[in-house]
Amino acid sequence: MDLCDTPEEAEFRARLREWLHEVLPGLPPKPDPADWPGRRAYDLGWQRTLYDAGYADVHRNASPALRMIFLEESEKAGAPYVGANFVGLLHAGPTIAAEGTDAQRARWLPPILRGEEVWCQGFSEPDAGSDLAALRTRARRDGDDYVVTGGKIWTSHAEVADWCELLVRTDPDAPRHHGITWLAMPMDAEGVTVRPLRTLAGSAEFAEVFLDEVRVPAANRVGAENDGWRVTMVTLSFERGTAFVGEVVACRRTLRQLACGARENGRWDDPALRRRLGRLDAEFRALWRLTQWNVSAAMAGGGVPGVGGSVFKLRYSAARQELYDTAADVLGPDALDLDRPWVLDRLSSLSYTIAAGTSQIQRNIVAERMLGLPKGR
Ligand SMILES: Cc1cc2nc3c(=O)[nH]c(=O)nc-3n(C[C@H](O)[C@H](O)[C@H](O)COP(=O)(O)OP(=O)(O)OC[C@H]3O[C@@H](n4cnc5c(N)ncnc54)[C@H](O)[C@@H]3O)c2cc1C
Repeated sequence: MDLCDTPEEAEFRARLREWLHEVLPGLPPKPDPADWPGRRAYDLGWQRTLYDAGYADVHRNASPALRMIFLEESEKAGAPYVGANFVGLLHAGPTIAAEGTDAQRARWLPPILRGEEVWCQGFSEPDAGSDLAALRTRARRDGDDYVVTGGKIWTSHAEVADWCELLVRTDPDAPRHHGITWLAMPMDAEGVTVRPLRTLAGSAEFAEVFLDEVRVPAANRVGAENDGWRVTMVTLSFERGTAFVGEVVACRRTLRQLACGARENGRWDDPALRRRLGRLDAEFRALWRLTQWNVSAAMAGGGVPGVGGSVFKLRYSAARQELYDTAADVLGPDALDLDRPWVLDRLSSLSYTIAAGTSQIQRNIVAERMLGLPKGR
């Protein structure tokens, strides 16, 4: 992937920029963060708008360069974030595209792209987060169905999701990485109970999900029975490798706003703060280039991102936390006022180095799989 636009890419960029310029002023106001039905409708509405204009497929069929241009220009223009569509568009959908059957692709991908169905991720359990292979949610085969019993935790967007990418244990006697299966579970199935969890920032972004004898058709299994660990690695490589990349541009936008804020309130006179802002700018630029490299390498290697995504996730989540720590420096005592911009972002930024795999786990992956260091105990 070249760092300069080809004529085709330049034409795509200009067309997209013009379209965003026309369409964004007419968007309805963003709903309150606590209003989940409103947020769902808003996020699906934006996805539908992209679909109708022919941009939804950029997430799937376009070249890596066009995808990066799409993310870059959307963020620069301040277009809505994928929001509740995060899992469907950025990792469940890509997993189904890579690992599903033709029938599964035909069933699940079009509604994701058209903004009709929301997905959530049911991987983590109370004793299976970093050690995901410790998961215990059990699925036993009964005729054409799996019958699932157990529980998931930290399930983002579960309250408004239609589908869940669910990991279950189908062979409790197999070595723990070998008895896992990846299922698409309808969230309205009998026996599914969602109990929202409140975060430090005050909103209920995720939930506990209780599963009591839930029947999931075996036709909803993606990959072979007991081969779910391999499918999960595909999901996680999309989640860590490409799902957050658009946000790097958003971070650079926030950085510019911080610089303006510092100029306005006199904090700009502090050379240490200016150095910090400059270093973060360099970091986010480097992350953008790293992403271009990762996405290109993924496309050259069959479309699934590799462990390079862990390097990205590690640096991105730390840099984003530091961005909002710097925001607190710019705000000074106002950083304690929840009504000020960036304050809630700072609180939620604490989760970045945990969600989608903690930084310690990313370091283990980089050490073992990229640097070839010995495996931990
Ligand atoms: C905002 C947010 C959203 C989330 N959304 C979802 C979601 O939608 N779906 C979902 O399934 N999950 C979700 N998660 C869960 C997330 O994936 C887990 O929190 C994460 O994997 C860590 O697992 P844990 O919380 O069980 O911590 P633990 O695994 O208990 O880890 C505790 C600490 O020990 C460290 N540690 C553990 N093992 C090792 C090791 N081998 N080497 C070094 N250090 C280690 C960890 O890094 C961490 O610091 C979300 C989490 C957050 C914060």
